[in-house]
Amino acid sequence: METIRTVSWMKEKAREARAEQRVVGLVPTMGALHAGHMALVERAQKECSHVYASIFVNPAQFGSSEDLSKYPRRLDADVQKLTAAGVQGLFLPSRDEVYPPGFSTYVQVEGISERFEGKSRPGHFRGVATVVLKLFEIVQPTFAYFGRKDAQQVRVVQKMVHDLNLNVELVICPTVRESDGLALSSRNAYLCEQERRAATVLYRALHAAERKLSVSVRDALELKSAMLEVLDSEPRARVDYAEIVDAETFEPVVRVERRCYALLAVRIGSTRLIDNMLIQAGDRIAVEL
Ligand code: AMP
Repeated sequence: METIRTVSWMKEKAREARAEQRVVGLVPTMGALHAGHMALVERAQKECSHVYASIFVNPAQFGSSEDLSKYPRRLDADVQKLTAAGVQGLFLPSRDEVYPPGFSTYVQVEGISERFEGKSRPGHFRGVATVVLKLFEIVQPTFAYFGRKDAQQVRVVQKMVHDLNLNVELVICPTVRESDGLALSSRNAYLCEQERRAATVLYRALHAAERKLSVSVRDALELKSAMLEVLDSEPRARVDYAEIVDAETFEPVVRVERRCYALLAVRIGSTRLIDNMLIQAGDRIAVEL
């Protein structure tokens, strides 16, 4: 696997790929790779002739109160995993490569970026959209792979691709979970043993909403109460938000009448975790596409 550290070299590779009409897949990550990331890589391997993963802990998407320097970094293990998976290249730019001195252009996807994750983490989606647009421009992928674990991020990127007529097709992959339901996340590494056990409360809360849906409850308040009841039962959990939202706009809904997300952000100790479940009103209530 080739490690590419500069924007100019990555762009050269992209030019080469275009000239040879290769199907290029991009898997953007912040590293500390786990089975969730690797599921995106595997999907990309199936659909593309050339797969690039990127690892960049993007300072622009961290708030001033969030500790960017503490974000887990495991480059050696990441390189091993990507090599074993057979990806063609790792794009590993430095901070200055992505944001050279004097950088001052940002992408703002209005509306959706201001809700939930965007409200709790001001500027977060501006940072995400900016870096993702840059990665698309630099790598020029045919397909780009994202996880539904970060559902609002997916929607922000989809909206940006649509609004700016970008030449890339997004592929959204299901959330990979531990056997007890906890969604894999690089941030799970922060949890101590007791917190790790407590962290299953997110999945249990989503499951409670699912049970209500299965007995035809469509009232969003009732579904939300079911989630909160479970979350409140866990003393280590502090709820940031628990909501039923429209899957396109991320506006809270009154009733589940079209595709919605049950959406959670919960602090377990000092670690903030997010999770979600895609739901709809028809026969199959919980959808994982
Ligand atoms: P991150 O390194 O956290 O920025 O994540 C990189 C990509 O992996 C994003 O598209 C995430 O949505 C995706 N991802 C993270 N965790 C999971 C998971 N448990 N299952 C599926 N995809 C995931």
